[in-house]
Amino acid sequence: MTTPTIELKPSAHPLPAAEREAILADPGFGRHFTDHMVTIKWTEGRGWHDGQLVPYAPIPLDPATNVLHYAQEIFEGLKAYRQPDGSVATFRPDQNALRFQRSAHRLAMPELPVETFVEACDALVRQDRDWVPAHGGEQSLYLRPFMIGTEVGLGVKPANEYLFIVIASPAGAYFPGGVKPVSIWASQDRVRAVPGGMGDAKTGGNYAASLLAQAEAAAQGCDQVCYLDAVEHKWVEELGGMNLYFVYGDRIVTPTLTGSILEGVTRDSLLAVARDLGYTSEEARVSIDQWREDTESGALTEVFACGTAAVITPVGTVKTDGAQWAQGDGTPGPVTLRLREALLGIQRGVTEDKHGWMHRL
Ligand code: PMP
Repeated sequence: MTTPTIELKPSAHPLPAAEREAILADPGFGRHFTDHMVTIKWTEGRGWHDGQLVPYAPIPLDPATNVLHYAQEIFEGLKAYRQPDGSVATFRPDQNALRFQRSAHRLAMPELPVETFVEACDALVRQDRDWVPAHGGEQSLYLRPFMIGTEVGLGVKPANEYLFIVIASPAGAYFPGGVKPVSIWASQDRVRAVPGGMGDAKTGGNYAASLLAQAEAAAQGCDQVCYLDAVEHKWVEELGGMNLYFVYGDRIVTPTLTGSILEGVTRDSLLAVARDLGYTSEEARVSIDQWREDTESGALTEVFACGTAAVITPVGTVKTDGAQWAQGDGTPGPVTLRLREALLGIQRGVTEDKHGWMHRL
């Protein structure tokens, strides 16, 4: 497969430095976008072509464009971090590229070569490097690669053309006031994904399906939904945008990938980081009843969620139909904090990167 080169057509009018700095002082999440984007097209019979770095701008779409009706869309999320020497590095972008290929396969879309995915992210970060927040805080530049079917027509079939785009958005510290535990609503009747469905693909439909459940969690006074498996409504899967870990003393356990769980890059990394720190880490099935019993018996000492956005978020309370329990004393547990520090240290370039995860630009 040919790898398209990315032609650089930078903006003649990037945002003035003072305005950019004002945004970086309080970026929030996903509210501001950098000056540029990378676009690459795919056309049947021609493959990938017309890779470009261009000013960030709206994309005109015909009202009958495939993605607007049948949701042939996939996306990724990864971050670029400022390093102590002022350089910039992304965290395991190859893993996002591989997951993007798996998502593409599931939605009958063309698979972008890993090196093209990484090069597109690199090109954007290089061009907009001033948007990567300074070293020291917990801020980063969030990258959002995505791909949509762009064939015009209402026939239900895989599109014969696609548009791949990477945009970037500065992200503030997830917990500006310190790490704060989240409360969880374990939904007994809403499911996120079914066996044979698209739960292990990062596609917009999965997130559309989560919105009502999320609203119900909020109505229950909870921050996040925990999804159980769709068949027995018993096995713990994940949250709407984060994987889960259970801490049993010095053993950490994450639910086994079933096909309906998204394979998180953070989840995978923590299996290794935990071992580096002397913990045992493993994948196993965990039921919601086991969760409650092990919390009540004291065997389960901490629970946390993990993902690119928040890195590691402690779980504070759990609520489900007819039951509610507190996880710990409401403060983040020591294992949770230690794993969080270790992973952040690698990403911020202050801890040895023994797995070679950081991709320097
Ligand atoms: N599960 C879901 C459903 C997600 O959207 C995410 C965020 N990508 C995760 C888990 C965590 O994945 P990662 O560690 O790769 O960000």
